[in-house]
Amino acid sequence: MILWLYHDHPKEAPVLARAIAHLYGIEVEDRGRLSMPAGAQQNAAFLLRHLERRSGAHPTLWLVDRSLFFPRTGELFGCAAGRLALLSGADLDLDTLVKEALHEVGHILGLDHCKGPCLMSLSRSHEEARAKPPVLCPDCSAQLERLLSP
Ligand SMILES: [Zn+2]
Ligand SMILES: [Zn+2]
Repeated sequence: MILWLYHDHPKEAPVLARAIAHLYGIEVEDRGRLSMPAGAQQNAAFLLRHLERRSGAHPTLWLVDRSLFFPRTGELFGCAAGRLALLSGADLDLDTLVKEALHEVGHILGLDHCKGPCLMSLSRSHEEARAKPPVLCPDCSAQLERLLSP
């Protein structure tokens, strides 16, 4: 599988791409900048629809430079729908940004949220995002292996 990475972050993008390729053993293609649609540019649902028009069903992560909210859910670092995911690089340090990127790619690959100390645990705050480990727990690792096996 080749994951497409769109981003407004030329410095951080290669770091994210390497971390994703390393953890999941997939190829990452740096697609550069994706132009913002006119309109509600912090509305994650709106941006996901824009991304879908560009990527179709191709697995894609889009790192944007603004903070995001999801209608009725509130502010979030990132979100995924099907094979598409968004991530905000607006106010995360690089280590945390890498973890959240790996988390969103986990969703793209089919993993759900996990309660354990695990990359796939849900982060509602900076503290939770910083505290979680940069790796999958044994359960999620086993599930990923099943998801990635042909
Ligand atoms: Zn999540
Ligand atoms: Zn887990």
